[in-house]
Amino acid sequence: MTARTILEIAGVVLILILTSMIIYLQKKFKREIARSRAQAKEIEELNISQNRFFSSMSHEIRTPINTIIGMNEMILRENASDEINENAANIQAASKMLLHLINDILDMSKFESGQMELSPVAYHTGDMLSDVVSMLWIKAKEKNLDFTIDVSPDLPESLMGDEVRIKQILINVLNNAIKYTREGSVRMQIQCERKDDVANVIYTISDTGIGIKKESIPYLFTAFKRVDEDRNRYIEGTGLGLSIVKQFVDLMGGKITVNSVYTKGSTFIIEIPQKIVSDKHLGEIDIKKGHGPHKERYVKSFEAPKARVLVVDDTMANLLVVQKLLRETRMQLDIVTSGKEALQMTFDTDYHVILMDHMMPEMNGIECLHKIRNQNGGLSREAKVVALTANAGSDMEAFYAGEGFDGYLVKPISGEALEAELYRLLPKDIVVVTGTNEMLAEESTAWIRSHRKKAAIMVTTESVADIPSVLVEKYNMAVIPHMVRTSKGTFSDGLEIETRGLLAYMESMSGEVHTRAPGVAEHEAFFADQLQHATNIIHISISSKVENSGCLVAKEAAANFDNVFVFDTGHLSSGQGLIAIEAARLAAAGMSVPDILANLEKMKNHVYTSFIVDTLDYLARGRQIGDKVARLSKALMIHPVLALIKGRMIVSMVFFGSRERSWEQYVRKVFRVSGKIDKRMLFVTYVGMTQKELESVEKMIRARIEFDHIYFQKASPAIAVNCGPGTFGLLFYTEY
Ligand code: ADP
Repeated sequence: MTARTILEIAGVVLILILTSMIIYLQKKFKREIARSRAQAKEIEELNISQNRFFSSMSHEIRTPINTIIGMNEMILRENASDEINENAANIQAASKMLLHLINDILDMSKFESGQMELSPVAYHTGDMLSDVVSMLWIKAKEKNLDFTIDVSPDLPESLMGDEVRIKQILINVLNNAIKYTREGSVRMQIQCERKDDVANVIYTISDTGIGIKKESIPYLFTAFKRVDEDRNRYIEGTGLGLSIVKQFVDLMGGKITVNSVYTKGSTFIIEIPQKIVSDKHLGEIDIKKGHGPHKERYVKSFEAPKARVLVVDDTMANLLVVQKLLRETRMQLDIVTSGKEALQMTFDTDYHVILMDHMMPEMNGIECLHKIRNQNGGLSREAKVVALTANAGSDMEAFYAGEGFDGYLVKPISGEALEAELYRLLPKDIVVVTGTNEMLAEESTAWIRSHRKKAAIMVTTESVADIPSVLVEKYNMAVIPHMVRTSKGTFSDGLEIETRGLLAYMESMSGEVHTRAPGVAEHEAFFADQLQHATNIIHISISSKVENSGCLVAKEAAANFDNVFVFDTGHLSSGQGLIAIEAARLAAAGMSVPDILANLEKMKNHVYTSFIVDTLDYLARGRQIGDKVARLSKALMIHPVLALIKGRMIVSMVFFGSRERSWEQYVRKVFRVSGKIDKRMLFVTYVGMTQKELESVEKMIRARIEFDHIYFQKASPAIAVNCGPGTFGLLFYTEY
């Protein structure tokens, strides 16, 4: 065999091996795919069957609860002794709790099996809010809480979305707010931002309750997790509510955030985008349309002795419940236990309303409805038919409507809901309204306060940012004062102490003066306060590198809030102020928080900050520089310029000779900075200078460069303390 033949054979063998390997791998791959497909199918089937199990369990449990709640309501109506009433009230509370739990478990199982779906409908925003408020205000009132709803009149009148689930979200969060608040207030503000045909509706729910510990916030939306268990042991709950809320909000493409200060209160902000159906503005909301609120004692809402109503349910106990609940309305009630019997009755009776159970053996409620509608010679073909069902869920309502039902009542039914539904469907000429809820409804409107516009973003900063008050007002900013400590006490910068007085004090007595940023708790209270007026806060802080900086403190406080963003400017005084103004300008132009922060990050290197000081004495007093340097500079008639380099104040230039001459040189040098000067505004921030001196500085500036606005701004006492009189700075943007 030649070497060539050997090579050829080896080549063929190699190809054979490779081919069989590829075939083997392909087969294996196919097997794996088939196996994982089978597994996925199995999981899906498992999920579906689990979901089915939970649904039928919920259905089965609902039926006996219906009997318990219904019969118990009859006991409550009977004016029995106090003890019996108390026991019955406890049964009522426990059954409602059980029901709530079943609903939550049903929702959770749907989410877990990926089967939760939304049922969008066009809904009236005012009616939706009325329903939510009418369910809760009485609870707030019982706890003596101030309960207010503040709705923006520009909210669109009609939106497209899953109304039932939105109500569920709001009720859950409001209910928590009431539950976890002992005194004070619970407030809901509703606003919206429009983008094309979508309204981003922002619900802000704040309370003055027990608050949530910072470390608990990440677990807030975890199922079955109740945070701060020790403290909340005696407050009813399962820890499912917020987890479901979050999953619904996510499903709707929305967002939920929490800001909370432990022991002070919490704010939940829920944003839900909804398609606009009618952009007619809602205007002042009319809560009177809300369902009748809670009544202390049963009062029938109407009487209709001429009304003919048929109730169809295979469970005798359910029929008894309906019969008893409707007794006072004096309607003519027939009851039957099957679809077949129902058809016998509808053949020769003209019913106004038929209450129809869904799940019945032999003929179910849907089949029966269709047969009634098409019954040859039947007298009830036009009757209003209400689905009476233990199948809960928002999708169910749409489902029954799709089948041709005129109404939908979920078991367990309350007498109130039953009466309301019948009242809605009965011809008005055979109904006599007896009870009235007007008084209570009137009262519930009182909770709606005149609307105050809430901003999407508010810019806040420190008093040391030295922003002229006209600009603070123009951009709706909020300013937290720094503290100035003297031997006479500690004062709020600018609020309680004013620069001139402070300088005089420093001149007269060589008293020690220190300035400091407010503490974490003060920042927390400040942020919590401002969050009442805005959804997000961008806090513009002084450089983190200067002594006693407010930056780290603000960051620590902001960690308690989801919507407070602290921006370290690396600047101080009006340099910090310029950045705050830019932030406010961008916010007013509608820019988002991340975009604003990104912009500020770029621009912070384009803010020029420096001050020329008369003497270094004050810095020495504040222990910012050594005594010796200060004495030396005085002896040499040196006028140092302090400039901010990489977030720190350092002596960047020195000028010798008279004040006037030094100022002249300073102004000339400054405007030779690298980069193009943005001529929109210049800040001349000063300490202890006379009108005449300022005028001469202005002249020096105008001789060199023409700005649109020059703001002469007195430096805050906190800055004055470190610089002393005869100081001024030039602060401006360079283009970025
Ligand atoms: P629960 O059924 O326990 O209320 P949630 O999921 O609704 O369950 O809430 C989870 C936990 O979050 C609660 O146990 C409570 O500790 C805390 N929490 C929720 N809302 C508030 C609030 N407004 N104030 C204080 N704590 C709250």
